[in-house]
Amino acid sequence: MIIIDSVADLRRLLAREEKFGTGFVPTMGALHRGHLSLVKQSSLDNKRTVVSIFVNPTQFNDTSDLEKYPRDLETDLSMLSNILSDKDIVFTPNYNDLYSFETEFSLDLMGLDQVMEGSHRPGHFEGVVRVVKLLFEAVTPEKAYFGQKDFQQLTIIKKMVKELNMGIEIIACPILREANGLAMSSRNERLSEHTRSLAAIIHSTLKEYCKVKSANELTGISQKIKDGINSVSPFLVEYFEIVDNISLRSVSSVSDIMSGRKYYGCIAVYAEEVRLIDNVEFSFAFIKG
Ligand code: AMP
Repeated sequence: MIIIDSVADLRRLLAREEKFGTGFVPTMGALHRGHLSLVKQSSLDNKRTVVSIFVNPTQFNDTSDLEKYPRDLETDLSMLSNILSDKDIVFTPNYNDLYSFETEFSLDLMGLDQVMEGSHRPGHFEGVVRVVKLLFEAVTPEKAYFGQKDFQQLTIIKKMVKELNMGIEIIACPILREANGLAMSSRNERLSEHTRSLAAIIHSTLKEYCKVKSANELTGISQKIKDGINSVSPFLVEYFEIVDNISLRSVSSVSDIMSGRKYYGCIAVYAEEVRLIDNVEFSFAFIKG
């Protein structure tokens, strides 16, 4: 694999081999099997894969979260070297170089960035959109791979690509989980062993309630999920919402459900000052069509 840290060098190299079909996997490093599953999928689908590793400051609304974010480039490169081939690229830009290419743009996300993660992390998605746009412009991929774990991010990136006519196919990849069901995340490293094992409660509670069989069951479901998780110390639910995958509008009663849409129960939970997010698909067996 080729390691490149400047946008100009990346563009030069890609321009030389224009005909290559490029798949792109943006990451913030501290790689785990979840990230690697995206890289493997891209390698299967494309002639060349570019993986970026960049902890993007503009998407952190909390400076201590940014400071504590795990970084281990050496281990990341060694993990990637086991699955990438000679022509694949690891792009490790620095802030000043990458952001020097930023130009003014306007994008109406129609409120997708105002709910759930957006309302609890002000400015987060503005930073995500800025960096993904810059990375897309530097890499110019045909396909880009995002994890379903960051469900709201995935929805927003799809919207951005459509609105800005970027012509990039966004591929959603399934959530990889630890053996106990906890969604893999770079932040899991900051949990104690004990809390990490108890964190099984998040996915098991979501799964318990995700097949809704009657309108009655829908009433109070959010509270039941919150109570179930909050009953295990040290977990504290920040929000739980059931939303569709296009508008991210919250469902609280049967009349909110539209046929033809997919619904996901999305959650953010605090434990030991670490913020964990997860989601599962919800089904409403009592709605026809
Ligand atoms: P991050 O480094 O956290 O920005 O994540 C980079 C990409 O990996 C994003 O598209 C994430 O959604 C994806 N990702 C992170 N964790 C997982 C996981 N457990 N399973 C699948 N994809 C993941």
